[in-house]
This record gives sequence, structure tokens and C-alpha cells, in this order.
Amino acid sequence: MSHNRMRMARGDLGALIAALSDRGYRILGPTVGDGAIIYDELESDTDLPVGWGEDQSPGAYRLVRRQDQAVFGFTLGPHTWKKFLYPAEERLFQVTLEGMSFQPEAPAGVKQAFFGVRACERQALSILDRVFLENEHVDSGYAARRRDTFIVAVNCTTSSPACFCASMGTGPEHRGDFDLCLTELLTPKRHDFLVEAGSAVGEAIMKEVPHCEADEADVAQAEKQIEATAKEMSRSMDGDNAAQLLSRNLEHPRWHEVADRCLSCANCTMVCPTCFCSTVEDTTDLTGDHAERWRRWDSCFNQDFSYAAGGHARSSTMSRYRQWLTHKLSGWHEQFGTSGCVGCGRCITWCPVGIDLTEEVAAIRAADGAVAATSKAEDCHA
Ligand code: SF4
Ligand code: SF4
Repeated sequence: MSHNRMRMARGDLGALIAALSDRGYRILGPTVGDGAIIYDELESDTDLPVGWGEDQSPGAYRLVRRQDQAVFGFTLGPHTWKKFLYPAEERLFQVTLEGMSFQPEAPAGVKQAFFGVRACERQALSILDRVFLENEHVDSGYAARRRDTFIVAVNCTTSSPACFCASMGTGPEHRGDFDLCLTELLTPKRHDFLVEAGSAVGEAIMKEVPHCEADEADVAQAEKQIEATAKEMSRSMDGDNAAQLLSRNLEHPRWHEVADRCLSCANCTMVCPTCFCSTVEDTTDLTGDHAERWRRWDSCFNQDFSYAAGGHARSSTMSRYRQWLTHKLSGWHEQFGTSGCVGCGRCITWCPVGIDLTEEVAAIRAADGAVAATSKAEDCHA
């Protein structure tokens, strides 16, 4: 952690939200909805999941009441920030027959504040930036929404059994790239936040919020809590070595074992903060006078996703699961210079049959080099 830290009382969290709102930001953050902690618009700090935690395990999630009034006493639910930058469906253009007019969408910029971004999620946003902004073809919609996005980061002071960010080097502590960063300091005797400004706008906003300079005890407590959070994570994955491991084990028998359990439901890709595959759909009205093209989220687990030249390149569940995991942990390094996994654990919790990618990688590692005796011809296409 760096220096220049401030202390803000829990009671002034609402003032921070109000200061952001007064500057025109739409505040987006965690709240309770649909039996989970989701990301939605916040009007005040009372919309935050105060006093809520969650029980998570492979294939299971439920909200639980905490014994305290922690504001950030949970980890991650099924939503990710990507939906505010890269919506699940988006119109790309319209064509009208009369006058042959072609109207591409002109995405409007939006002032939005992401309130409560965890360290792994911040890394996921950096990965999406590489995909949508730092490539030859910039995504204009993503660029417009990303430009004025203010990030209020939160260092994790609790973890779930699904988390493995510590082993991936992506959490639980932020290492920059935020406007403000909060660490919740909660004991039976106090409830404050350690606040660090990471940008000029963040500093300016804190001038409008009551606070004082943090002391050494505040910083020491924050560091202790974050360290304890890293230590309590029971899951781990060696993300860098996984790239080479998977590349040389494309015919490993484990792919068939996991495919026997996988439902090819695509849940894991929908909840993943970095998965970005999409499809396009064209529609026309009944008169044929007006047509639109829409982009919608898609998944490599959907059979039609690999349909090309009269056939499906990945017709088996085995080839689709292998495509997902090898792309995420291996192919991304070649494409984007980073792993596609940030260790958030969502795909473990929200997989209906509890498939755990850390377990799959470990199983392949345990029998590194084993080759399936009966690989099917179709698998060669994956
Ligand atoms: S692959 Fe799973 S653990 Fe990794 S970032 Fe995606 S959802 Fe999170
Ligand atoms: S790994 Fe789990 S979540 Fe992903 S497609 Fe298979 S069954 Fe669905």
C-alpha cells in the first residue's frame, strides 16, 4: 500500500455517494436483488448490502445475514461490471429501404461511477480494455462508456471459498488504476474506511467529503485484514504455468471426464468478467422496409457459435469445454499478453454441476502428458 491515506467515518459513506452524484455520475454498485448480490443503480448508501454476506461453494450460492453491519462483507455475485460497458445486447445499425438510409448507432458517452470494484475485477476491466480499446479495431460503444467511468475500488477484507485471486496475483489488494480505493475498518469499537485517492478527480471529490488524515494504526489494520484475506483462500491456480500445461495436453483424458459432467449451459461464460464472445443478428420488419443489426453476448459453449462453412467446428461438449479453458488460460496470453482468468471464482459457484477450473487444471497437471487413446476426429477441430 502507498501513502497519503485518509480516514472516513462509515457515516460519511453516503456523503461520498452524494458527492459523486452531484458531479453527474450515475452510481452503480452492489445491492441485494433476486436472492443474490447484484450490480445495479444506487441512490444512497442504504442501497448497499449492509450486513449481508454469502455462502458459496461449487454450484451453490445463498445470501446469509452477518453478525455485524459490514458494508462490503461479501465478495462477488453473478453480475460483473462488463454489462455496463459491453451490454448483453446492443443495436449496431439500422437500414431503411426508403432513401436507402444506413444509420450506424452513435453510442453516447455516459458518466458512471463503479462503486465497490474488487481487485480481481479491476484486472478484468484492464483485460476488457485490451480487447475493446487496445486492438486494431476499437469498439466505439465500449470506448464511449469507458471514457467517463469513475472507479471506487474496494480492497477485500473477506473472501469466499471460490476465490483464488491471491494465487493469480490479481488480489485481494488493489495496486493502482482507481480513482478512489476504500478499505473497510470494522471492529466492535469502530467502523471507518481507509481511503486512498488514485486520481486528481478522486482527490477533488474527497475534498467534498468529511475525512481526516489516516494514522499508522489505520494503515496497519487495513494491511492486516487484507493479508488475512489472502491467507484464508483455500483455492489456488498457477495461471502462468497453466498456459504451457494445457497446450501440451490437448488430448488428455481429463477433457472427456469433465465433458461427462458439463451441461454446455454457458453459465460460466455469462458470469465471467472477461468473456466477451458475441454474435450478430439481423432482423427485418414484416414489410421489409426496415432492418436492424444487433450484437448479443454469445458463448463458446453454444454449438452454433462454431458453425462455419456448413458444419460445427466444435460439435462435442468435450471440444467446447477444452476450447473455453485453453483459450482462457493459454490462448489469451498469445492474443492479449495476459491470462483470461483473474481468479474471481464465479464460474465455479455458478456452474450448476460445480465444475471447478482449478480442479481441472490440477487433474491435468497430475497426469501431465497423458494422451487419450481414443480421441475422436471431431476433436481435432477444436
Ligand atoms: S474463468 Fe472463472 S474464475 Fe476465471 S475470471 Fe472467469 S469466472 Fe472468474
Ligand atoms: S462448465 Fe458448468 S457452467 Fe460451464 S457450460 Fe459446463 S456445466 Fe455450464
